[in-house]
Amino acid sequence: MDDIRFCSETDRFKFILQIGEKKFRASQIEEWLWKKGVRSFDEMTNLSVSLRQTLQTHFTFKQTRIGNDVQSADKTMKFIFQLHDERQVEGVLIPSGDRVTACISSQVGCPLRCTFCATGTMGFVRNLEACEIFDQFILMNQESIHVFGRPITNIVYMGMGEPLLNYDNVWQSLQWITSPKGQGLSPSRITVSTVGISTGIIQLADDNFKADLALSLHCADERKRLKMMPVTAKHSLSELQKSLSYFYAKTNKRITIEYLLLKDWNDSQEDAQKLFSFCKPFPVKINLIEYNATDSQFEKSPIQNLNRFVDFLQSKNMVVNVRHSRGKDIAAACGQLVRDKQ
Ligand code: SAH
Repeated sequence: MDDIRFCSETDRFKFILQIGEKKFRASQIEEWLWKKGVRSFDEMTNLSVSLRQTLQTHFTFKQTRIGNDVQSADKTMKFIFQLHDERQVEGVLIPSGDRVTACISSQVGCPLRCTFCATGTMGFVRNLEACEIFDQFILMNQESIHVFGRPITNIVYMGMGEPLLNYDNVWQSLQWITSPKGQGLSPSRITVSTVGISTGIIQLADDNFKADLALSLHCADERKRLKMMPVTAKHSLSELQKSLSYFYAKTNKRITIEYLLLKDWNDSQEDAQKLFSFCKPFPVKINLIEYNATDSQFEKSPIQNLNRFVDFLQSKNMVVNVRHSRGKDIAAACGQLVRDKQ
């Protein structure tokens, strides 16, 4: 039996008519699914008991539940989501000021094997269904209200996996989260982060993507990036640059460039110059990220190298932020999400 959320709205509508129910029942179901985010037929209290029973004999809800949560000294919370097939992914809630940012996963594991990232060591297990991505939002939103006294204000697709390698499901989850008939979160509060799948970036532009795009560039030297991020063999830097130019031309959106500073590897002035050249064709905001310890050989850049890098970029009038990760004590920071029990 399939999850009721697996079929299209049209199919749910057809089904309701087929079983002799009125049209408006279909709209009520849509509202329960996306606006109220329920995950059982029993909660659909404005439907008759017999309709709920009929639904139950035809459909199921593949349950995503919170298996465990831990809170960091800095209040960041990490959640382990238990999926219907006992696979697991992680999500993170990061409170700061009035904001609560949810970091959500798009795949179980990740096929990219970036050498500095713990998730990559798991390998790829499977794509998340759109409703499994949506469920992470719904479940963490309830936790956010409960623990922080306010709902999620921002979402980053920066958990486990590569969103653009699970394009359709990520896209569908974005629709449910942003649609006024769904959760109604403004797309301007959502960021999708990619390792740089150029074909996916072009598709986002063609699909009239409204959220923000972040690129985990981390290095603008082809040879060195290939060593850190094997995906570079498939999507070269020049191809990436072209896809970002196309994205900017179509969406008029500034692109966020994530750059992980690694000691004596990508933190020289020459590296900063290469980054500057890579970004010339489109407006960007650069987020310099400090390296969070994983089992890799890399080390985080010392403060002098960081400052030299920042000074150079600022001398070129680039917008630069230095990002310190949250939740390191509970392995909830960027690159630390890993589940070995798969
Ligand atoms: N696959 C997508 C989404 C994951 S986002 C992407 O690559 O953008 C997770 C972010 O954390 C990426 O920018 C990733 O490069 C970064 N990251 C991975 N390992 C890290 C580490 N050890 N320290 C800091 N950031 C890391």
